[in-house]
Amino acid sequence: MAKLRQIAIYGKGGIGKSTTTQNLTAGLSEIGKNILVVGCDPKADSTRLLLGGLHQKTVLDTIRDSIQGAVTLENLIKLGFNGIRCVESGGPEPGVGCAGRGIITSIDMLESLGAYTEDLDYVFYDVLGDVVCGGFAMPIREGKAKEIYIVASGEMMALYAANNICKGIQKYASRGEVRLGGLICNSRNVDNENELLRAFATELNTRVISFVPRNNIVQHAELNRKTVIQYAPASPQADVYRDLARAIDGNTEFTIPTPIGADRLEELMLKYGMMDIADNYKI
Ligand code: ADP
Ligand code: MG
Repeated sequence: MAKLRQIAIYGKGGIGKSTTTQNLTAGLSEIGKNILVVGCDPKADSTRLLLGGLHQKTVLDTIRDSIQGAVTLENLIKLGFNGIRCVESGGPEPGVGCAGRGIITSIDMLESLGAYTEDLDYVFYDVLGDVVCGGFAMPIREGKAKEIYIVASGEMMALYAANNICKGIQKYASRGEVRLGGLICNSRNVDNENELLRAFATELNTRVISFVPRNNIVQHAELNRKTVIQYAPASPQADVYRDLARAIDGNTEFTIPTPIGADRLEELMLKYGMMDIADNYKI
């Protein structure tokens, strides 16, 4: 049996982590991989598309509503597209308690109930991560996920978050096996975005593993509660996600990231953001 790969997908809120994770796992399922997706965002919408819009009861809610000891794997895991196993950790009410708590509880619970079965090829953790603090670092802190991909775009806040996440990874990597597998550029149609992300990746001692174009078909699929792979399997966007799935499946380049300073980040943004302007206006 192939070795289980546990992968965490990080990135700022709204950047496209859940969409990308679900589409790429759909792609991996098409090539016969067995996958568990663990949603680690208090929003609890990491598996909605794979489940056809079914609202998944979170691990925290399930535990809360069950008499002690009565929680089973069947309560926690729902089967989605192509048999992908789906779990939502959940989180507390906004503003109450540690939002990372659900992640810790879920992973412990999944482990003790035997969710990490021999037949699994991949576990994906879809983790909110403007900052890699407390509970949000759990999948990498405890050595569960050893491989990380960061979803980013050419927008300032996305790059800022990605750089911060790299600071977190660097800390855990220096005393463990956690490594960065690359950046996934989920395009926001920023000027020279591909070049900017590539330059940024080089400075971080990593690479862009995939450039995912911004395309309304993603929203159309989402309105229909599906991944693009299910909704429009013959579309170029579906092939982008399949290529990403294969790139991750075949990835052998794992590094310890080298985050950059805020000044350097701004310099990069200015250089790539103003390139065309300078040409056009002869500045
Ligand atoms: P996150 O999980 O990081 O918070 P989501 O995956 O929920 O972000 O994505 C936020 C929104 O962006 C969703 O409505 C989604 O449909 C949209 N989106 C994500 N990726 C793309 C893309 N490549 N093209 C168009 N829309 C996208
Ligand atoms: Mg999400």
